[in-house]
Amino acid sequence: MIPVQVGKANIYSVSDGNMTFSRDTFFNGLSQDDWKSYSDYQGSEFAMNVGSFIISTHESTVLVDTGLGKLDHQIKQPTRETLLPEINEAGFSPEDVDTVFITHLHLDHVGTNMTDTPSGWIPTFPNARYMVSREDWSLFTRLSNSEAFSYIKQQVQPLMDKGILELFDGETKVSGEITTLPTPGHTPGHSSLLISSEGQKAVIVGDAAHIPPQAQETQWSPSPDRDKELSAKSRAMVMDLIEREHALLASGHFPSPGFGNLVRVESKRLYVPLS
Ligand SMILES: [Zn+2]
Repeated sequence: MIPVQVGKANIYSVSDGNMTFSRDTFFNGLSQDDWKSYSDYQGSEFAMNVGSFIISTHESTVLVDTGLGKLDHQIKQPTRETLLPEINEAGFSPEDVDTVFITHLHLDHVGTNMTDTPSGWIPTFPNARYMVSREDWSLFTRLSNSEAFSYIKQQVQPLMDKGILELFDGETKVSGEITTLPTPGHTPGHSSLLISSEGQKAVIVGDAAHIPPQAQETQWSPSPDRDKELSAKSRAMVMDLIEREHALLASGHFPSPGFGNLVRVESKRLYVPLS
């Protein structure tokens, strides 16, 4: 597996499988006409990668999001539980990870935080501190008594109980080259990551965008976005930043491996995957 280099940082794309959704349920309120320029999205269903990233620098090994793991859920998932083998293929072991950064507390981003063993539940990445925004923590722990959010009790709460969950606010340094970039709306504390090294930049966008057409259609806020107006603002902000700074865009839900650049073609902003 070959990483993408951003200055002195190496970014690896690893995946926990994929999911399929109904296009018109996920993006409700759009018309057939809205989709006409996007030939990859003409069918009634579309697939999303369940992607994570490893950012490797001289001082840290950061895993961004932990997929769906073995969680019970209603999502259609043709392939699953590939995260740990892919981390291995990238040349890392779970012990190497010193930080697990969670972009937000939806179930497809936290599913491999904890592992069930004969002697009980243990953190999957035993040497890591885990990072979650304070705003998502306070919302999702309030919801954790409902069945839909019971995964919080299994995969997130134990990290706090063990004292290895760090809550952050706003823009926070994760390591020398990596800073959190608040992109609220999908969830209240949703956070992207900005990687900046030797004049080169990359942004891991998290769920500020789910499919490449949203690079142009920043007003397309899908049904899972809690605050659709705010998520549209965050999406526009982060896409403008990536375009202006000629940054690499990294997305866990865009087609794997989810690396690309934003380019202007006839006034439209297009996502062009790295070849
Ligand atoms: Zn997601």
